[in-house]
Amino acid sequence: KPLMKSDIQIAQEAVLKPISAIAESVGLTLDDIEQYGKYKAKLSYEAIDKLAVKQDGKVILVTSINPTPAGEGKSTVTVGLGDALNQLGKRTMIAMREPSLGPTMGIKGGATGGGYSQVLPMEDINLHFTGDIHAITSANNALSALIDNHIHQGNSLNIDARRIVWKRALDLNDRALRKVVIGLGGPVQGVPREDGFDITVASEIMAVLCLSNDLEDLKSRLAKMVVAYTYDKEPVKVEDLGVEGALALLLKDALKPNLVQTIEHSPALIHGGPFANIAHGCNSIAATKTAAKLADFVVTESGFGADLGAEKFLNIKTRASGIQPSAVVVVATIRALKMHGGAPKANLHLEDLQALEKGLENLKKHTETIEKFGLPFVVAINRFALDTDLELKFLAEWCEKQGMEVALTEVWEHGGKGGIQLAQAVLSQIEKNENNFNYLYELTDTIEEKVNSIVKNVYGGSGIEFSSKALRQMHEIEKNGWSGLPICMAKTQYSLSDNPGLLGRPSNFKIQVRELQPKLGAGFIVALTGDVMTMPGLPKKPAALEMDVDNTGKAAGLF
Ligand code: ADP
Repeated sequence: KPLMKSDIQIAQEAVLKPISAIAESVGLTLDDIEQYGKYKAKLSYEAIDKLAVKQDGKVILVTSINPTPAGEGKSTVTVGLGDALNQLGKRTMIAMREPSLGPTMGIKGGATGGGYSQVLPMEDINLHFTGDIHAITSANNALSALIDNHIHQGNSLNIDARRIVWKRALDLNDRALRKVVIGLGGPVQGVPREDGFDITVASEIMAVLCLSNDLEDLKSRLAKMVVAYTYDKEPVKVEDLGVEGALALLLKDALKPNLVQTIEHSPALIHGGPFANIAHGCNSIAATKTAAKLADFVVTESGFGADLGAEKFLNIKTRASGIQPSAVVVVATIRALKMHGGAPKANLHLEDLQALEKGLENLKKHTETIEKFGLPFVVAINRFALDTDLELKFLAEWCEKQGMEVALTEVWEHGGKGGIQLAQAVLSQIEKNENNFNYLYELTDTIEEKVNSIVKNVYGGSGIEFSSKALRQMHEIEKNGWSGLPICMAKTQYSLSDNPGLLGRPSNFKIQVRELQPKLGAGFIVALTGDVMTMPGLPKKPAALEMDVDNTGKAAGLF
């Protein structure tokens, strides 16, 4: 029976506890938190410092198969698993990304879980929350203004205005701003040049914020960011402009993790939100580490499928933080599996065992990837109302035949109660202690070797083709001595390949790397593949068309 209430209706019917009570439930006092209204708070730096002596809890990483455009319920399962573990008496905290306004107004309508597994207040978290993303936008654009002012005031650094790699940013999907010309109107208006906008969640500052261990680390990462090249093709960094202090100052509160609660009052830290297709796709290290200090278990997600978010969690975030997951949950839905097996999008609600069977090869590839990282996993079947018993039975039996742990998960409909089976399966994987975590490449490997390892081991492709531009950039990165960084792949989320139309488990494909961008502050090299764009556009029928607010300030249409 389909549940008729929308996510926002369920969220608005929930009775929240004051955030001070949630803080207390994890051993924090009123002194430890800075309240943003009744239901949101940031943790103070003093509180975080005090936690340093505590033991770390175990981290459970939630990932998925390649999703449909609607998402496969990874956030929903993350929240529901956290609630389920708490129901089992395990002290558990959730760590998640904060949603970007771009996709909220565009295709998603919200990204705070769904049904009875949501973090609250969902309207706030989905809109401006505690202002962290706005602070990042401001820091990003302050840097742009400072670069342009430096050129206008005489350009003592000899910046080549045609080689400025730092772009402006906005947390919206706005394709018209991808390429712009600025400084028009004569000498008083600055120096004309070509510029462009990225969505804020693709800004290097978002990655810096998420990968920094503290304010000192944040400042030194900001200082290292390359913003332009001189006429002699030498890199110009933020430290050359001398503005890392100002940028860090703009981010001094944004670096503190945000505490909220689930519908069942489980504590959750929601902090940082880089996309997983064009950035590294994980919530902040500050949130994950703090959650691990406050609880015995942390459930955290990484964006899109295991080919994107999880690969980057494991190759990038673990290296920057020292955090290693104890177990992984791979979320799969019957509808997405059928889509991978060739069922047309309009027919995903119809029973189709043939398409399901064929689509399972996508799940198989992602679980093989997790095995390559040496991590134990559980497959979570996120149940949708239209899944048939036959389909569910088929999927569960297939997993068992493959020797995979599998759990039917009904957290969307039932909250934590619907995730007990999953929670028990995850706990038993952790207890078995068969964790042999290893990286898929060494930092000392060449750039080509690193990308190749991801393409072969994670995507199942046969190799890479670098564009002539990418080859030139590779050469420059090597010449500058930056090739020891990990790789942040920018790739479509829909396919294991760089072609969004190639579903299932494609083979014998090559990945086209069209650009390599060194991000020294974030501490990785971005490899742009296929057509993936760092400023998305809105769809024909944006989610914004459904949104409204009444005279009391009550939101509608955030799904
Ligand atoms: P992801 O994190 O994978 O992008 P979300 O958890 O954000 O996915 O879920 C995407 C949307 O799908 C949300 O609106 C959520 O309410 C809905 N959803 C998730 N799981 C279910 C389910 N089992 N049944 C119905 N709707 C679901």
